[in-house]
Amino acid sequence: MTELEKLYEEIRNCHKCRLAESRTNAVPGEGPEDAQIMFIGEAPGFHEDRQGRPFVGAAGRFLDQLLESIGIKREEVYICNVIKCRPPGNRDPLADEIKACAPYLDRQIEIIKPRLIVTLGRFSLAKFLPKASISKVHGQLIRVGDLTCYPVFHPAAALHQPRWKSAVEEDFRRIPEILKQLDKLEIEDETKAKQLSLFGL
Ligand code: SF4
Repeated sequence: MTELEKLYEEIRNCHKCRLAESRTNAVPGEGPEDAQIMFIGEAPGFHEDRQGRPFVGAAGRFLDQLLESIGIKREEVYICNVIKCRPPGNRDPLADEIKACAPYLDRQIEIIKPRLIVTLGRFSLAKFLPKASISKVHGQLIRVGDLTCYPVFHPAAALHQPRWKSAVEEDFRRIPEILKQLDKLEIEDETKAKQLSLFGL
């Protein structure tokens, strides 16, 4: 069993918060252990809870389209959520649930070591930048400690708001260029990533 598989097993058996009582399946995440990009959403919804897989409903289909539009296959990236079990009725996750579940995401990040973390929506952004507003920082490359984060709106929210949909599409279009920039930054000077965040890349 790999580290990631052991972690999945732990998540499937987890009862650290009340969401364990109402879930059908926990949704640990999926994707290759050596993925360069990690997409982090909020929490599983109805279809994710039924299938035990992340982003398989309408928002998932939109995410697949967004990835396809930039020439990236879903199987190449790692996809997970801040919260691993569905909140009843798709309500927002509560602070104590986020806290209880946080070590699982921390371990996923440690194992995958993604070059780029794309946060999808405000709960995922808050994990890295608790005070930031998604409408202000989406589409900007931001260094947080050792991690490089790229906040975008959540695909589910974008499906309901035409102006967020075009913002998400535009932010995704820049991902291939960001990956190229990261190559240069790693060779040249890490502080340039900080400068890029000021200019919104
Ligand atoms: S949401 Fe996270 S902490 Fe809560 S039961 Fe599921 S895996 Fe455990």
